[in-house]
Amino acid sequence: MTTTPECLACGSRDLGLWARAHDIEYYSCADEFSYFKCKTCGALSIAPVPEDRLSQIYPASYYSFSGHTKTLAERVKQALDRRLFRKLFSMIDPDHGKASFSALDIGGGSGWLLGEAKAVEPRLQKTVVVDIDDKAEAAAIAAGHGYFRGRIEDFSTRDTFDLILMLNLIEHVKDPVGMLKKAGDLLTPGGRILIKTPNHDALDARLFRNRSWGGYHCPRHWVLFDPESFRQAAQKAGIEIESLNLTQGAPFWTWSALNMLKNLGLVEISAARPACRHPLAPFLMLGFAAFDFLRMPFMKTSQMFIVLKHK
Ligand SMILES: [Zn+2]
Repeated sequence: MTTTPECLACGSRDLGLWARAHDIEYYSCADEFSYFKCKTCGALSIAPVPEDRLSQIYPASYYSFSGHTKTLAERVKQALDRRLFRKLFSMIDPDHGKASFSALDIGGGSGWLLGEAKAVEPRLQKTVVVDIDDKAEAAAIAAGHGYFRGRIEDFSTRDTFDLILMLNLIEHVKDPVGMLKKAGDLLTPGGRILIKTPNHDALDARLFRNRSWGGYHCPRHWVLFDPESFRQAAQKAGIEIESLNLTQGAPFWTWSALNMLKNLGLVEISAARPACRHPLAPFLMLGFAAFDFLRMPFMKTSQMFIVLKHK
C-alpha cells in the first residue's frame, strides 16, 4: 500500500523516512508502521495513521485505572506530581486571591490526577474529565468529578478552566494543533495548560530509533515532537509557551529494554502479557528514572513538560 504521508503537526509533505516500528508493548497488531520526519518542522508522524483501528490498537488491557495498590515508582511520581501542581496553582494565582479554581483533565480516565491536584489545592472545586474510556466514567463520578465521555473535539461547554491537563495525550491525535487551539478556547484568562509529551531528540530515542523505541508507543503515538517542533505547533495554535522542561523518560527506556531482552529470548512479552505487566518493568522503571535524573543536568531526556498560557 502506498501512502503519501503528511506531517500531522504542520501539514508539510516534505518528509523523510525516519524509522519502521511495531507494537512492542501490547502486541495489538502485527503490522509494521513507518515514522516520517518532517523537514519543515522536525516532528515525527506515523504512516499510515491507524485511525479506523482504535478498538484494535487500544486493547482492553490498555486501560488500567481501577484502585490498584501503588508501586514504589508510582509513589515517587506522585510526590513529583504534587510539587508540580503547587507550582502551577501559584502561577495561575500569584496573589493567592482567587476564591476557587476549576480544572479539566483531557484524557484523564478516572480523574486520579485531578484528585492529586485537589489534594494540594483545596480551592480546586470544579473538576471535569473528558475521556473516551467508558469504564472510567463511574470511578470519576464517584470521586466527585464531572465526566464527558467522548473526544475533546466533541466536548462543548460555556465554562472555561483555570488549569487544563493534557498529559500523554497530544501525541495520540491526528490534529495536535487543532487540539491546542481547542484547549486555548477552554482556558480562563490567566489560566495554564500543562502538557506532557515525548521528546524524540533524546539519547534513548537515538539508541532505539530502529528498534521500535518505546517512545513511539507504536502504533498509538501518531505525532512526536521535539522542543523546536512543539514551539512551532504552539505558535500555529496561537498560544504561548511559558516553560518547556525535559523530564525523565523511564517508561520509554523500559519498553525499549524489555523489547531488547525479548529479542534475545530472555523475557516473554505478548498480547497476553503486555510489557507493563512484566515483573521486571517496575525495577527497570526505577533504574532508568534514576539514570535520567542523574544525566538530566547536562543531557536531553525523552519527555517534555510544557506549560502554556494565552498570548
Ligand atoms: Zn511538520
